[in-house]
Amino acid sequence: MNEIKELCICGNTLLWPEKTGTWLQNIIILDWYDGIMTMVCRCKVCRKPKLISVISWQPDVSSIRVFGVADLTPTAFEQVEVSGRQFMGPAQHDYKVFLADLFNDAPLPWAVVASANIGDTILRSKRLENIERLRPYEDAISSEAELSSWLSMLDIPKS
Ligand SMILES: [Zn+2]
Repeated sequence: MNEIKELCICGNTLLWPEKTGTWLQNIIILDWYDGIMTMVCRCKVCRKPKLISVISWQPDVSSIRVFGVADLTPTAFEQVEVSGRQFMGPAQHDYKVFLADLFNDAPLPWAVVASANIGDTILRSKRLENIERLRPYEDAISSEAELSSWLSMLDIPKS
């Protein structure tokens, strides 16, 4: 039986800069501020769930945001599918607690991606050790110098 398997690109971050939908699907946006701040999604091929959340941004300096990528267990993803939607809306305090718990329970991120609109296109990506644990976006607002160092690490020219 001839089986053509699609290539799973989870393991090769060099292949990520693409239209987001070519390798990620089931995107659930968990936090939004002039664009996606935090989302969960699955790899289109291997279906492994991921938590992607901003780790550095400064809208006065650049429209490009830097995100950390962490793996989620299938159970955690299912909980997010249920609870995330339930908390959206008026229960802001509960929702913040829900997000904080999600960040605390998730494993450490293992890659970074840069994008001006991560729901649409990924500009750059890099596998990286020693990224801090993901945090709510208020804690990810960066100084110009910090954001610039992320962008130069990802070979993005400062515009
Ligand atoms: Zn995959």
